Amino acid sequence: MLGDAPAERIARLEQRVRELEDELDQARARLLRLTEVSEAKSQFLNMASHELRGPLTVLTGHLSLLEDGAFGEVPERFAGTFPAMNARLAEMESFINAMLEASRLDDDRLHLLRSTVELRSIVEEAMQRNELFLSPGQHLVLDASPVPLLVDVDRERVVLTLSNLINNAIKHSVRHTDVRVEITAGDGVASVSVVDQGIGIAAEHLPILFTRFGRVRSDPAVARLSGTGLGLYLAREFARAHGGDITVVTAEGEGSTFTLTLPLAA
Ligand code: ADP
Repeated sequence: MLGDAPAERIARLEQRVRELEDELDQARARLLRLTEVSEAKSQFLNMASHELRGPLTVLTGHLSLLEDGAFGEVPERFAGTFPAMNARLAEMESFINAMLEASRLDDDRLHLLRSTVELRSIVEEAMQRNELFLSPGQHLVLDASPVPLLVDVDRERVVLTLSNLINNAIKHSVRHTDVRVEITAGDGVASVSVVDQGIGIAAEHLPILFTRFGRVRSDPAVARLSGTGLGLYLAREFARAHGGDITVVTAEGEGSTFTLTLPLAA
């Protein structure tokens, strides 16, 4: 190498430059494909959520009229299906809303509607929304600091964030163990932890939890649970938009603790 003539060394360097240029071209082409796929996903989210919303509103409206007797008396056997139908429609509505929110995030259209509120009232609302998913004998327990904690937040989005964490905790508590919600504060930060004794999450799956559409389906006990994989992605994006975050401590087979932190109002 040391004894090479300058012309040979230049030729080798030129060859290397050409190879690097080829690699760069290939990387650019891959990036372009990924960008196109990602844009197509965003467009699909936006289109599907808007297109599904209309028919769902019509279905919900007609079901509610039917329930109220607007079309005459409903046979008892049919009326018994109302709770199940309402629960399914509510599930579809929450999927569609999650898709809409994800498409807003993709296009930087997420605007927070902030007001100063007491954290406990938000936590209680999120808990209430999930009571119907509890199994018989299973409890949702609140352990809150007695001091009122004020936060400056988009109330509905924080309720959705916490509701998602609580719903996940209930869904993954396959032995129907209780779920605890703890509110604490310190150093200008409020924390809400949702603690379950469910199936937990293996360390190898942690990197995908908060990604768009990221789901773990290795445990047969939860393989058929419904979900979009958007919940934790949105939850963390909402938390970060408020200057907070969501973290998780978990052990497979022992349970998980998801913690939302939010800055306390000044
Ligand atoms: P989804 O619930 O729609 O599947 P999420 O984004 O809310 O999507 O959650 C992503 C994945 O994280 C879930 O599919 C599940 O595998 C895992 N997960 C979330 N919360 C828990 C929990 N409390 N215990 C065990 N696994 C969980």
